[in-house]
Amino acid sequence: MVLQFAWWGYHLIELTEELKTEDTVVSKRTLMILSEGLVFFVILLFGLWKIRSSIIKDLKLSQRQTNFLLSVTHELKTPIAANKLYLQTIQKRSLSEEQQKDLIAKAIQENERLELIINNILSASQLENNALNPHKTSTNLNELFDSCIERFHRRYQNNFIVKEFHTNPTVFPVDVFFVETILDNLIENAIKYAGIEHSITLYLDKKEGQCVFGVKDEGPGISIQEQKSIFSKFYRVGNEETRAQKGSGLGLFIVSELVKTHGGKIRYKDNSPKGANFEVTFVA
Ligand code: ADP
Repeated sequence: MVLQFAWWGYHLIELTEELKTEDTVVSKRTLMILSEGLVFFVILLFGLWKIRSSIIKDLKLSQRQTNFLLSVTHELKTPIAANKLYLQTIQKRSLSEEQQKDLIAKAIQENERLELIINNILSASQLENNALNPHKTSTNLNELFDSCIERFHRRYQNNFIVKEFHTNPTVFPVDVFFVETILDNLIENAIKYAGIEHSITLYLDKKEGQCVFGVKDEGPGISIQEQKSIFSKFYRVGNEETRAQKGSGLGLFIVSELVKTHGGKIRYKDNSPKGANFEVTFVA
């Protein structure tokens, strides 16, 4: 803009000089100044539009950050308060072995949720500082996925995860922490948004030089308009008042960043007949 302005000013001075001598150049110069003025105006409008969109983007991010702080405080407080209550009940009441086991299972469930939230916050800050790099080792993914499924089944005391694995064991170079964090977040979301009343499917397949895995559920799925935003940091569908489920808006951001850092791709597909399907592809 500054260059355009200087160029324009230079020509105006030149025109004033020429006006004193030749009349014929006046109309030519007027046309030139008008068109240059138009270009100048368009650039100015473009600049203003850019500033406006960046202000809107900043405002949205700061709104999401406020929501994040509010919801993360709640997310951290809830399991701590619940665990305190479970322990106090075990301490004060004479409960049957069955009741004790039930309360302990619930406390472990809350504890694991807390662990995932804290891991997510730590991973997000490490990813931001480029301090999280994958250390890939040849891993039997069938075994890794089985232990993850077992953990969830134990935690919820319900065998709600259906596995669809390729018959041959999939041995692939992966970072175990990355894969566990990706699975934990995707399964946790499927539980949160679809519930464990309907089955949740964890699938794993191996193609030439690639391994493909994903989580499918039978919940409400995600609308086309929202699909492009769900992987953004702090993004949550709906607004804080209408949203029934608590969360931090960090889960899918971390999943997509981990997949990218690992050199893979993640995509959202609608599940058939309904629900969400998050699919990850890793290349060897
Ligand atoms: P959070 O769950 O903490 O809100 P995420 O980053 O994990 O944050 O998810 C972003 C948004 O994507 C969620 O707010 C939710 O609306 C939507 N979402 C994620 N997983 C699912 C799913 N399996 N089914 C429906 N909606 C989902």
